[in-house]
Amino acid sequence: MMRNTRSPLSRLPDETTEDARQSVIDEAFMQEALVQAQLAWDLGEVPVGSVVVKDGIVIGRGFNQPITSHDPTTHAEMVALRDAAKNIENYRLLDCVLYVTLEPCMMCVGALLHARVARVVFGAMEPKTGVCGSVMNLPNESRLNHHAAFVGGVLAAESGALLKAFFALRRQK
Ligand SMILES: [Zn+2]
Repeated sequence: MMRNTRSPLSRLPDETTEDARQSVIDEAFMQEALVQAQLAWDLGEVPVGSVVVKDGIVIGRGFNQPITSHDPTTHAEMVALRDAAKNIENYRLLDCVLYVTLEPCMMCVGALLHARVARVVFGAMEPKTGVCGSVMNLPNESRLNHHAAFVGGVLAAESGALLKAFFALRRQK
């Protein structure tokens, strides 16, 4: 395997398992999603961020912005999907991984499946609108014709803390 000195993988000992390597990669890209979440916060939007990654490169970024964009569909995942699809000039995001700081909702899971992303990695659970294990588990619905691998809980504490801090601050105002 090629070693890139800037890659987080270069710091790992050779005996590191494939799973451990994958979680280092996942956490690094989730950090990028958290940067996007912070941009949402800066606009007074609920801080959720997302990035789309292909071949180890970020090809799409997005943050939650329904209030400022006057558009109920501009959840972080939707914005990142649109950005990625435009960048590669393809509505299908084959072999792509989408990272998002919060468990996706029904709309976003629908869009992710339409986009044919290979894998979805999310952070904190969303008990009210999340459909990847909370309210329901759409990714496990065998009658849907496309399946992506969904993984939750990556940097969940960081993502959750950002949301809690945001809502605590908003209640004070
Ligand atoms: Zn959503």
